[in-house]
Amino acid sequence: MDVLFCTSEAFPLIKTGGLGDVCGSLPGALHELGNDVRLVLPAYAEVIERAGKLETIASLVLSGASAPVKILRGQFPGSEIALYLVDSAEHFRRPGNPYLQEDGSDWPDNAQRFALFARAIVALALGQADTGWIPQLVHCNDWQTGLVPALLSEHEPRPATLFSIHNLSYQGLFPAATFSELGLQQSLWSIDGLEFNNMLSFLKGGIARADWVTTVSPSYAKEICTSEFGYGLEGLLQYRSANLTGILNGMDNKTWDPATDPHIERGYDLHSLQHKIVNKFALQREQGLPVGSQPLLLGHIGRLVEQKGADLILDSLDALLRHPIQMVILGSGDHKLEQRLMDAADRYPEQLAVHIGYDEGLAHRIEAGADCLLIPSRYEPCGLNQMYSMAYGTVPIAHRTGGLADSIVDLDEQSRRNYTATGFVFDEDNPDAILGASRRALTHFQTRRIDWWKLVITGMKSDFSWSKSAAEYFELYQRVCNNTKTQVSMAENGEQHATPSQAVTA
Ligand code: ADP
Repeated sequence: MDVLFCTSEAFPLIKTGGLGDVCGSLPGALHELGNDVRLVLPAYAEVIERAGKLETIASLVLSGASAPVKILRGQFPGSEIALYLVDSAEHFRRPGNPYLQEDGSDWPDNAQRFALFARAIVALALGQADTGWIPQLVHCNDWQTGLVPALLSEHEPRPATLFSIHNLSYQGLFPAATFSELGLQQSLWSIDGLEFNNMLSFLKGGIARADWVTTVSPSYAKEICTSEFGYGLEGLLQYRSANLTGILNGMDNKTWDPATDPHIERGYDLHSLQHKIVNKFALQREQGLPVGSQPLLLGHIGRLVEQKGADLILDSLDALLRHPIQMVILGSGDHKLEQRLMDAADRYPEQLAVHIGYDEGLAHRIEAGADCLLIPSRYEPCGLNQMYSMAYGTVPIAHRTGGLADSIVDLDEQSRRNYTATGFVFDEDNPDAILGASRRALTHFQTRRIDWWKLVITGMKSDFSWSKSAAEYFELYQRVCNNTKTQVSMAENGEQHATPSQAVTA
């Protein structure tokens, strides 16, 4: 099957979180199933630097760009996957985070940037930018590509569309006036289009107009249909529930393999687990904590935002650190949370190390060196850190929500007996619950060593590879294409074939 995979980030070219991990690895897994999956990304400065050899294959005149927009073609690193980059210097060639300015606020022209990205994708999807290839299906991810299904829904014929929600709380919401500024067709300003409470919602465009909607875990697919997690979109999601599927993310088990990980002090696998402790000592040393096997070393990695519950960790800290526990926290985000964490590290220099920033290598060293990974997310669409931690023999302590609930088996009497337990799961999102679960972990770590090792080993044996989830996507792709009778073909689209210099208005 021919699939155009559209995303605003994909590791290793550009990543701010799980979206980048997923979009960097799922296309490869789909390719292994025999699909011609091609990836399209904005040509951010950083991406151009890392992408290797690129050639210009088209130059498009698109509304919203003052100069022709180039489509560059290359190869996604380390794969056979074709890569398209949408190159508009005024929109994407700027340093730093793809969505945020240095002070943490959104780029003021995000609506213009991702509307332009969507228009370029539409041109690619309709065969107007790359000679000889038209996808059967366009797979969009998160609000940055939400306009694509909406724009394509106004075309006939067109490829099938699938829209994946990685996090419903990021919606691409803009004032109503932006809709007119973007020059979008009036038919899209409706309750079953882009209008949401008299605002322009990119995310809603994807949910309302895609042929199928997916999200990244079965539990989250149910949760987003409720008012607690639906952000006002629960009604629409319930309405679309016959075409809404939750598919648990997989993980890239080449990048995240403790046996071959170049970032960690000492590689290990199930048969050389004794070497894991070398990574604990190295992490303690690196983070300026007393070195030793006795304290339970908790790690936490993530964006410092309310969703991830770093404030709950802070509120449980005084009680937590009365025990023989050390913590290493890596994250960045909300400046107040960053400051509170740094203050706490000053108060507990022997027990708490905080690293503010984004550091891929340290994330790997925490996964390898910690005994447990603390994941108190208030909600978690899927979450990848718990999968990485289990692969590294690091026991997750997590809130029972979304993908965390779908991927971690709590240690109870039954799961202990049948060897299925992989972590400590708690039901409430509050400091007491964190404390309770961490104490349970500590007790097992200190005194129930057989159960502890069973947890470690069962986690390491768990299969979170992409193969199962990619097969589910593939099945869904086929179903969606069979249901969508509006496929475009090269013959039908003959007159619109582009040459490298052809101008197209989408
Ligand atoms: P989300 O996408 O909501 O941020 P996920 O758990 O799905 O959360 O994925 C987060 C990914 O980003 C993981 O690969 C994690 O290791 C990484 N990550 C998050 N914050 C940092 C950081 N400060 N430094 C390095 N990696 C980070």
